[in-house]
Amino acid sequence: MNCPICANDTSTPFGTKNGYTLERCTRCDSLYVNPMPSAAELAAFYQDYHKTAQYRAKLASKIRRAKNRIRRIQWRRQGKSFIDVGCNVGFAVEAARRLGFEAIGVDVDEVAINEARGLFPAARFEVADVLDLAASGEVFDVVYCSEVVEHLADPGPFVAALRQILAPGGRSFITTPNIAHRSLPDDLMTSDEIRPPEHLLYFTPDSLRGLLERAGFRSTQIQWTNKPTLKIIAS
Ligand SMILES: [Zn+2]
Repeated sequence: MNCPICANDTSTPFGTKNGYTLERCTRCDSLYVNPMPSAAELAAFYQDYHKTAQYRAKLASKIRRAKNRIRRIQWRRQGKSFIDVGCNVGFAVEAARRLGFEAIGVDVDEVAINEARGLFPAARFEVADVLDLAASGEVFDVVYCSEVVEHLADPGPFVAALRQILAPGGRSFITTPNIAHRSLPDDLMTSDEIRPPEHLLYFTPDSLRGLLERAGFRSTQIQWTNKPTLKIIAS
């Protein structure tokens, strides 16, 4: 299997966790699960995902945090369109709506979308795949995609679709765990950040930047943080 992030064909063994083997790409330094779990395996894993995940907890503080993030992406908001791809229960969409955006959240997970509609009835949510959206030709001024790419087995077409739904002059904001962050232990496998099969891909700042540039983004600006979260504004 080639590196799902940069397509390089050589890797070194990195370790095993939860019954999944990880390899490190010799070119982009990303980690990836090899072999990737089957679609059926992933479907079974995600069936229980929302029962265990703490998405409902601390909604008010999550909305506040999302508002601060969104303010940094786009200062002029009135009348602008915002989409959260992989919106889960929708707090970033609600934050954007309260800031004056025409905001929509999409997710392939129908359970999450139903939950989002119940929690935030004034916002708009749809069960949708970003590849279908890209094919529809609809574009948005802000494309927000937080903690999604690490869940994918094949991120290239997904990221290209994010680029396609970006309006001219728009900005995309993408986050994912950063395995190159200085706060992580030398023995990365012991870190909670390494959690297959929930996370299948593990990016470094350069590997995410490379993926975005190959998908057609021209400018990528990293927001440095004290936490092992990689935040990139791309356009
Ligand atoms: Zn690679």
